[in-house]
Amino acid sequence: MRTAIPPFAPYPRIIKRQVSPVLRFPISERSEAFRARFFPEATAAEWCDWRWQLRHRIRTLDELERIIRLTTDERTAIARHRGSLPVSITPYYAGLIDAHDASQPLRRTMIPVTDEYLGSPGEAEDPLGEDADSPVPGLVHRYPDRVLFLVANSCAANCRYCTRSRMVDNPERNTCSQTQWEQGLAYIAAHPEVRDVLLSGGDPLILSDDRLDWLLGRLRAIPHVEFIRIGTKVPVVLPQRVGPSLTRVLKRYHPLWMSIHFTHPDELTPETREACSRLADAGIPLGSQTVLLSGINDRVDVMTELVHGLLKARVKPYYLYQCDPIVGSLHFRTPVQKGLEIIRGLRGHTTGYAVPSYVIDAPDGGGKIPILPDYVAGRDGDDLVLTNYEGKLFRYPDPGGKLGRDRTLPLFPEGNG
Ligand code: SF4
Repeated sequence: MRTAIPPFAPYPRIIKRQVSPVLRFPISERSEAFRARFFPEATAAEWCDWRWQLRHRIRTLDELERIIRLTTDERTAIARHRGSLPVSITPYYAGLIDAHDASQPLRRTMIPVTDEYLGSPGEAEDPLGEDADSPVPGLVHRYPDRVLFLVANSCAANCRYCTRSRMVDNPERNTCSQTQWEQGLAYIAAHPEVRDVLLSGGDPLILSDDRLDWLLGRLRAIPHVEFIRIGTKVPVVLPQRVGPSLTRVLKRYHPLWMSIHFTHPDELTPETREACSRLADAGIPLGSQTVLLSGINDRVDVMTELVHGLLKARVKPYYLYQCDPIVGSLHFRTPVQKGLEIIRGLRGHTTGYAVPSYVIDAPDGGGKIPILPDYVAGRDGDDLVLTNYEGKLFRYPDPGGKLGRDRTLPLFPEGNG
């Protein structure tokens, strides 16, 4: 008889806590039911071992068919896939996917559909023009004081809308070899203007502790590198990676910040909240990066649930990205108006800490450009007329207007001051 997988609850119960002295990790009720049904041979200790999770990533059509009732379109898309960004899902994250509903948000982010093979105007393999801003392989130097250092060429799980789909699981496009790392480090060392290094990939947190330690140590030894950031989705798709040995390594290299890629509130499981808590306890400021995706998270209520959940998990909602126009991404992209609507639906309706910056990463290397709803209704004489979050109009006496000192009045009559 099949074990039923419980539906999502806002905060699923933790039914098991792995009590080995080395690994202590929660297993939610949902994960446990999934493990028992599809990986009965795996012990709880193995399930909580990030290397076991990586080794057992679901990659083939047969493996997917075993756990998900695929639609004809999904099956065709998977069978047709060649090259970079193959299907790859950790067993843990596969347990969050709805086996029967092809429109479920998390499923759509991981399982290909044939729309991926349809190009549309303005799409490109490298929409942000990163290759053109790459002085040495695997490093992008676009902004004056910071670089993007691509140190890994694969991820724990592959997102279908990935901006770097051209290079994920494609060693021909980015080797991430020791030689390449050395070239990147030499470039950073030779450019004193680089005070901020963002490690990305692929996902840097799938590197071993030793390799991360080595890399972070080399970066920290460069005197002008003030600030290191890591961009990752690992706490979401492979939270078991965040064990004591990883946090011990990361803690050595402060100030170190982390941007975690979240997509949907269903990702805020007990496991992921535990991973975030451990990172925050290690003194790492956490921010989220979320790509706005059509039919996945493009509703005010969904985004509100996500940002509130993130704050409770000690993650500051940082960026909301307009989806980049990679080839075959039209089914993921929303009109910009949708992003503005979401920001309007958050700003003022909830704490400012919960409101991310909505940005478009401009094609051809323009960099991130913030997009804001317009709250300035106009001017009336010297007053600025503003619209608040409820749509009500307010006047603000703008000192920048024509109003000058000649129109000031003493606040206190002489002698009363
Ligand atoms: S985790 Fe990031 S780099 Fe990896 S596939 Fe997803 S979007 Fe791309």
